[in-house]
Amino acid sequence: MEKEQGLKLSGISKSFARTDTNEITHALSNVNLNIKNGEFISIVGPSGCGKSTILRMIAGLIAPTTGEITLNGEIVEGTSANRGMAFQKPTLFPWLTVEDNISFGLRMQNKMHDKSDVDRMIEMIGLSDFKKSYPHQLSGGMAQRVSLVRTMINKPEVFLLDEPLGALDAFTRMNMQDELINMWKEDGNIMIMVTHDVDEAIYMGNRVLVMAPRPGRVVDDIQIELEYPRNRNSKKFLQYRTKIMEMLDFGKSETEAESEVC
Ligand code: ADP
Ligand code: MG
Repeated sequence: MEKEQGLKLSGISKSFARTDTNEITHALSNVNLNIKNGEFISIVGPSGCGKSTILRMIAGLIAPTTGEITLNGEIVEGTSANRGMAFQKPTLFPWLTVEDNISFGLRMQNKMHDKSDVDRMIEMIGLSDFKKSYPHQLSGGMAQRVSLVRTMINKPEVFLLDEPLGALDAFTRMNMQDELINMWKEDGNIMIMVTHDVDEAIYMGNRVLVMAPRPGRVVDDIQIELEYPRNRNSKKFLQYRTKIMEMLDFGKSETEAESEVC
């Protein structure tokens, strides 16, 4: 029998036991997803609805409480270079230069035969003058860009992005969006990106998942039927935006009195 292709989440739930109060947080309940190879999934939803938890489980950083995750028919267990994650806050080695931070993954995998990729990435993020600099010499936005391409350069089969563009100014952010889309089109990998920005979700994803909290779950799964590159002002784009905003507002009124925790 042929192995099942793509990424599959079946009956996934995740609970956390709180050590201070002995309460259980039901972070996610019964999440079922089929993601085909080559899909770009955007995830939006209020704080605390389990977006990061989904990514961390797919990355293999934490295990689901119930259910199973498979990638091309193989159960996902533990981390792997095939599944790369870029975090909201930069994760860089302070003792390595920009250049060495970016090439770290390639060196670990003995893939350093082509250093031009590293230079291309550094140029793409506009840091050619900073390649010998250390993380503490960079601004927050610069460090964030280095952190992103550090995962990007490994070309993971599944690229998990947890609000990776949040710290960037609008102009840089739009450039990075296009670079990520280019990379995805070239490599045909699975992209799963969490974002607070509904426009970004629609601009990038071929599917947008809308989540709601308590318990965290997927409440809508919207196919974005627009050609790339997308026009953020087209009528259809704005219709998708209205629809998703309404879904998010609906989720909010359910939990209005509760405070927002990030
Ligand atoms: P989001 O990324 O959508 O903001 P998270 O996935 O970070 O949400 O968290 C979902 C829920 O699970 C929240 O209520 C959060 O407090 C809880 N949670 C996440 N990680 C842990 C943990 N390690 N221990 C206890 N609770 C956690
Ligand atoms: Mg999060």
